[in-house]
Amino acid sequence: MSGFIEGEDRTQATLFPERIDDYVAEDSPVRVVDVFIDDLDVSGLGFRTEPNATGRPSYHPKMMLKLYVYGYLNQVQSSRRLEREAQRNVELMWLTGRLAPDFKTIADFRKDNGEAIRMVCRSFVMLCRKLGLLNNTMVAIDGSKFKAVNNRDKNFTRAKMKRRLAELEASIDRYLTQLTEVDATETDEDKGQVLEDKIAQLREETARLKKHEVRMLEAPDKQLSLTDPDARSMKSRGTGMVGYNVQSAVDSQHHLIIAHEVTNVGNDRSQLSPMAKQAKAVLQRETLDVVADRGYYNGDEIRTCEQAGIDTYLPKPKTSSNKAKGLFDRAAFTYIDEDDEYECPAAERLSYRFTSSERGKDIRRYWSSACSRCSIKTQCTTGDNRRVSRWVHADVLARAQARLDKQPDAMRVRRATVEHPFGTIKSWMGATHFQMKTLPRVSTEMSLHVLAYNMKRAINVLGTKEILAAIRA
Ligand code: SF4
Repeated sequence: MSGFIEGEDRTQATLFPERIDDYVAEDSPVRVVDVFIDDLDVSGLGFRTEPNATGRPSYHPKMMLKLYVYGYLNQVQSSRRLEREAQRNVELMWLTGRLAPDFKTIADFRKDNGEAIRMVCRSFVMLCRKLGLLNNTMVAIDGSKFKAVNNRDKNFTRAKMKRRLAELEASIDRYLTQLTEVDATETDEDKGQVLEDKIAQLREETARLKKHEVRMLEAPDKQLSLTDPDARSMKSRGTGMVGYNVQSAVDSQHHLIIAHEVTNVGNDRSQLSPMAKQAKAVLQRETLDVVADRGYYNGDEIRTCEQAGIDTYLPKPKTSSNKAKGLFDRAAFTYIDEDDEYECPAAERLSYRFTSSERGKDIRRYWSSACSRCSIKTQCTTGDNRRVSRWVHADVLARAQARLDKQPDAMRVRRATVEHPFGTIKSWMGATHFQMKTLPRVSTEMSLHVLAYNMKRAINVLGTKEILAAIRA
């Protein structure tokens, strides 16, 4: 093969450089993994660092952590693949000192150290703050649905169960009708047997579903997932999936994930203040601006944020059906603060009448006595008079709307911020998303993904050498 670039002779004694360190580039991300974890006080984070008094010595948690962080950084998440990589990957040999635990030991480490791994993820965010990567005051909060290890057919809600039982019943009826016809003609005994077998199978399936139904109805949310009991059926982009709703608070400048939380609640309505408060605590700020989409709009949550020094920017959902019916919508009524009255499109005043409680909220009711003689009543109400409701803390919502009006590009910032992290992590996870089952373990898996994502992002922004220097300083 003369004239071509030639490789080394594999039988020679010095094929590899003499030091394994020469195989790892100076700016390789694996060096960040190594230095970052070496610098951590892992016993303070909850890992067990005391060696066993008797029996076989165990692997140090720092070594196991390095193995995992490297794995998630390079899209090697399964314990079996990590075991293989530790035996053949030169960077991993360098990182672990050529230690190669078996897959069971690797899997157990992730399973047994969930909370501590979460703290490692947080420590890296703290490092990013120290590096000046989180100086921006705007944080975007968003949720995304991730698939669980649970097939849709192995998840039952009341509606699904009803549908499946009805389908089975219809099939049994159909076969019974066919069986009656076969019996009547007495022409084909084999066909009769086949139909009887099918009916027996369907009855067995019905009995199995009935047992699941009992378990499903015992659950507080009347839902049952057979493979991953914590996974829940949720809507994602118009279709249904069984999975988890992962919440994140993302920095709008460098798109680093400041805080994250895995939940199995299908909507975002109760997530705004917990995520915003977590982000504020991590950033150690007195105040914080938080932007979110209309799925997070919840008066109580906005109020809790305001009380915690967090300014929210989020649009109001369009829930009123009046406009579609050709009637004045709520925006046509102006609240007159000093009089505690509303002014309607006919320039009449709607006075306060009484306060009632609705789903735990105190709601004030207003209406006018002039409706019966109003010339534009047909455009306003189909009832005797138009009633307007106002939450007792509606001033909180008015301030939130005023903030959003002053910052019209907040929604564009939100979109540009939150799509990057979730898109990247999902592409790393592949089509199946989570590999582990149950909420605590899935949360650990997510923390490792977030840590790997943040590490890669910080390296892209600052470069390996600067990060290494900052950690060593
Ligand atoms: S119907 Fe009543 S509330 Fe509506 S515009 Fe007329 S007076 Fe105002």
